[in-house]
Parts: sequence; structure tokens; C-alpha cells
Amino acid sequence: MAEFTMELNDEQKEVRDWLHGFAADVIRPAAAEWDEREETPWPVIQEAAKVGIYSLDFYAQQYFDPTGLGIPMAMEELFWGDAGIALSIVGTGLAAVGVLANGTEEQIGTWIPQMYGDANDVKVAAFCSSEPDAGSDVASMRTRAVYDEATDEWVLNGTKTWATNGGIANVHVVVAVVDAELGSKGHASFIVPPNTPGLSQGQKFKKHGIRASHTAEVVLENVRVPGSCLLGGKEKLDERLARARERAKAGGGERVKNAAMATFEASRPAVGAMAVGTARAAYEVALEYATTREQFGRPIIDNQGVAFQLADMRTSIDAARLLVWRASWMAVNGKPFTAAEGSMSKLFASETAKKVTGQAIQILGGNGYTREYPVERMHRDAAIYTIFEGTSEIQRLVIARTLSGMPIR
Ligand SMILES: Cc1cc2nc3c(=O)[nH]c(=O)nc-3n(C[C@H](O)[C@H](O)[C@H](O)COP(=O)(O)OP(=O)(O)OC[C@H]3O[C@@H](n4cnc5c(N)ncnc54)[C@H](O)[C@@H]3O)c2cc1C
Repeated sequence: MAEFTMELNDEQKEVRDWLHGFAADVIRPAAAEWDEREETPWPVIQEAAKVGIYSLDFYAQQYFDPTGLGIPMAMEELFWGDAGIALSIVGTGLAAVGVLANGTEEQIGTWIPQMYGDANDVKVAAFCSSEPDAGSDVASMRTRAVYDEATDEWVLNGTKTWATNGGIANVHVVVAVVDAELGSKGHASFIVPPNTPGLSQGQKFKKHGIRASHTAEVVLENVRVPGSCLLGGKEKLDERLARARERAKAGGGERVKNAAMATFEASRPAVGAMAVGTARAAYEVALEYATTREQFGRPIIDNQGVAFQLADMRTSIDAARLLVWRASWMAVNGKPFTAAEGSMSKLFASETAKKVTGQAIQILGGNGYTREYPVERMHRDAAIYTIFEGTSEIQRLVIARTLSGMPIR
């Protein structure tokens, strides 16, 4: 276990500064344009691929940082640059993690390279779980996957929604129901290879924020994928379903649920770190503005009403980062999340980002309300953090259930 320290080591500082440079020089200057265009910023993704930021290797390196701080540090810097563009850069990672977590070595080796493409021909991937009637309530999922024994193929039918990179992805990872009796334990994940007939993009959403990130419905109509596209393979699925049926009969199921919860606790701090990046960006703009903008013959920061807001903003951001770092450190060191510390970090950081970006608009006055200054965009972007990867209400539910052991509804 790494020794406890509040300081990043030299290697981490080097990576952080490198990412910060990319965020400042490449992402930030492109942010307003791609927000207005509401399109995937392919040239920026390509730049990121050229320097090695858009690649599985980079995230794997950060993931295996023994302090746990590699991923949150990377997320904070990239999202400090711009949330929409950064999500376009890291969105593929969501699908890649789905394959890494459940796939066989062969599946990992076959599909992950196709998710990223290469610097001359970048590709993206999508992770499709949410549905129109199954958002927070994942167990209500309707997309079905039926095994066709004669052809050794799975046949997928259903409609996914809110998929980041949905429809424009080279590879889609789709979660579907294979045994409706088992609720969320009867789900499995499938690779849908490039250009598979039957998969199409539904509506592309026009969003409030993170508009440089593509979000769309994905329609699956008799999509046939080879048996080898079931992540983890059929044997493992059959064993897992048999265990789940046994447990259901015996009235159990806690162990499976706990394993899924532990995965979420480990992944949520990364979203918290994105929120810290956006909050920090807005705070920095507000601090700079407050020290230079003069009213009544003095900088507006001379007023406690403004200065105290900035003090509160910075305090909340630092507190959010500490919660994110603690949960990330716990995840990498295998510490049990006995108080749902991962959910706690996501809850606090995302609420902080929403609040701090709003305060930044207030400090910039009329300018803050226009697209001449970036805090307006940052405030729109920040609203996503309390919604995706589990809403704030769902985080509170998880924390309260974990603390109390009660089935709070
Ligand atoms: C921009 C964007 C990108 C996304 N990317 C992806 C992606 O790549 N892949 C993917 O699969 N999904 C993705 N999502 C989906 C996202 O995870 C869901 O939107 C989220 O889980 C919430 O589901 P919902 O929108 O259906 O809201 P609902 O579940 O309908 O919730 C509506 C409201 O009710 C509240 N609520 C619901 N249940 C409870 C409860 N039990 N107690 C208290 N309050 C409750 C919620 O907190 C929320 O405030 C994305 C969403 C967005 C907006």
C-alpha cells in the first residue's frame, strides 16, 4: 500500500502539467466553437490521439497508479479545459471499461483497439445501458438478447437512449436482458461490431450543456451478433445465471448486488473529478474577474460579499477534491466502502460544480450571463454531473442505505 501523503509525486506532477498544457493550449481555445456547433470535435480527439492522451494505454497507466490519483487527476485537468470536449475524449473509456470488466482476454484484444482507432483514423465507442423507461431504475430494462443456437448468434432488439457517442461509435457495448425473471442480475453485455445491420441512431439530443459531446438514442432491430460478442462468453453467463436463480430461490442475491455496488463506488469518483475540473475552471475565471473589475472605485473583490463567496467556492472545491481522492485511494487499495464514500464524492463534487459555476456567473454580473465569458458554458455543463452516472438523489439513496442498512426508498 502506498504511504499516505497529501502531495503528488514527481511523476504525477509531470503528467498533471502535461495534461494541463493540453487542456489549456488545445481544449480550452476550441471550447466555445464546439459548444456552438454541437458536434463531436474530431480534430481535437485526433490531436489527443497524436500526443497519446486518447488511448487505452494512457488510461491504463493512470488506472494502475498505486495511489489511485492517476484517473482523478487526469479527469480534473481535461474537464478544466472543457467538459464537452473532454467527454468526447474520455467517453470511449466508458465502453472500454465495460469490456475490460467483463470481457475475455481475446475480446479485450480484439475490440478495444477498434474502439479507439489510431491517430490517423480515430474512432469512438459507446456504452448503451439507459433506456427511455430504465434510467435510475436499471432493472426495468427492456432490450432483449435472445440466443439463436442454430447459428450461434445473439439477436438484440430494443431502444437505448442517452448514449454518449451512440450511433457514431465504431463499436457499441449494449447491455440487454437475457433472463427477465432475474431483474438486473439477468442482464448481459454485448459487443455490436462496426457496421452491424439493424443498429441505427435514433434522435440526437440537443442539450443544455456538454454540447460538444454527442448524445443519442440507439435503435436495435434484429441485430445479430456472433456468439463471441457476448462479453465473458456463454459458459460464464450460464454459470452466473444459474447462481442467480439459486440465490433467488433461496431469497438471497446480496453478494451479487454488493459486487455491483463496489464497482460503482470505484467508478463514481472519476465523475466527481470531472466536476471538480469544471468547478475549478469557473472559480479561476471568477477570481481573476473579481480582482480586475472595478465598481465604486475599487475592485469588486474588496467587498466581503464577493470575497467571501470566492472563499466558499474554493473551500468547497478543495473539499470535493479531497473526497474524490479519498474514494479513489480506497478503490485502488481495496478498502471497503462502508459509508458509500465513492457515491459521497460524486454527490458532493457534482453539487459543488453546479453551485460554484452559478456563483461564478453572479460574480461576473452581466458578462457572466453572456457567451463572451466561459462561465455561462461551464454552468450549463456542470448540470450534467448531478444527472449521469447516477443522479444526486440516487447517490443519497445509496449513501443512506449503506449507512443505515435499511431498504430506504
Ligand atoms: C448527457 C448524458 C449522457 C449520458 N450518457 C450515457 C451513456 O453513455 N450511457 C448510458 O447508458 N446512459 C447515459 N446517460 C443516462 C444517465 O445515466 C441517466 O440519464 C440517469 O441515470 C438518470 O436516468 P433518467 O434520465 O431516466 O432519469 P430518471 O431515472 O427518470 O429520474 C428522474 C428524476 O427522478 C429522480 N428519482 C428517480 N428514482 C428515484 C428514487 N428512487 N428516489 C429519489 N429520486 C428518484 C431522479 O434522481 C431524477 O431527479 C446519459 C445521460 C445524459 C443526460
